[in-house]
Amino acid sequence: MALIVGNWKMNGLGDSVAEIAAMAAARSDLWVAPPFTLIDRAVIVAAGAVRIGGQDCHAKVSGAHTGCVSAAMLADLGASFVIVGHSERRTDNGETDADVRAKAIAARAAGLQVILCIGETEGQRDAGEAEAIVAAQLAGSLPDSADGLIIAYEPVWAIGTGRTPTPGDVAAIHGFIRTRLVERFGPAGQGLRILYGGSVKPDNAALLLGQPNVGGALVGGASLTAASLAAIAAAAAG
Ligand code: PEP
Repeated sequence: MALIVGNWKMNGLGDSVAEIAAMAAARSDLWVAPPFTLIDRAVIVAAGAVRIGGQDCHAKVSGAHTGCVSAAMLADLGASFVIVGHSERRTDNGETDADVRAKAIAARAAGLQVILCIGETEGQRDAGEAEAIVAAQLAGSLPDSADGLIIAYEPVWAIGTGRTPTPGDVAAIHGFIRTRLVERFGPAGQGLRILYGGSVKPDNAALLLGQPNVGGALVGGASLTAASLAAIAAAAAG
């Protein structure tokens, strides 16, 4: 079954957890990463039916890092996963592949599952560099173990734009990522889930998620309401 993960980014106030309560009532296989400020309330209303995660974590367990949140803190709130390496973190906060790898290792040490994001910019795709960029991101940001790891392929130019790659392009690059994961992790790489992310909506989910090596979706804008995220899950389930 496809895994559908919502990334709320910097959206949502207290009343938004009602959407998570509605998701919990509707389905049991949705994951949502609300902003840090809502995680504890989201965990309560999700009541174990929706898994709640963070959108980022610090690589250190604790210390003098004003404004940052560690993986252990997320786990302490009841989060069970964390997104690392989102392109908005890489761009807005200058996060490198080495940073992303350190965060992934810290998250696993705290017992969180990791959704590790990779993806090329439009310029890189137009220059024919998409595979090289993705390969370099994997080489630099993967932890040493595949345990607890999920990959999210998110072409930067498709995030929040309403544009998506063709189904053939999605199949091609997911197949390329699969090959790299098997090279890196052996048989464990074959079993890793690879999500597609970038302008997934209820009306394109079935086509995009029906491609080989696509194990689900990481969804931004369309994850903010239970109706929309459940519709994506339903479309993916066929
Ligand atoms: C994302 O931010 O991970 C994302 C895929 O956003 P959107 O679905 O809005 O393109």
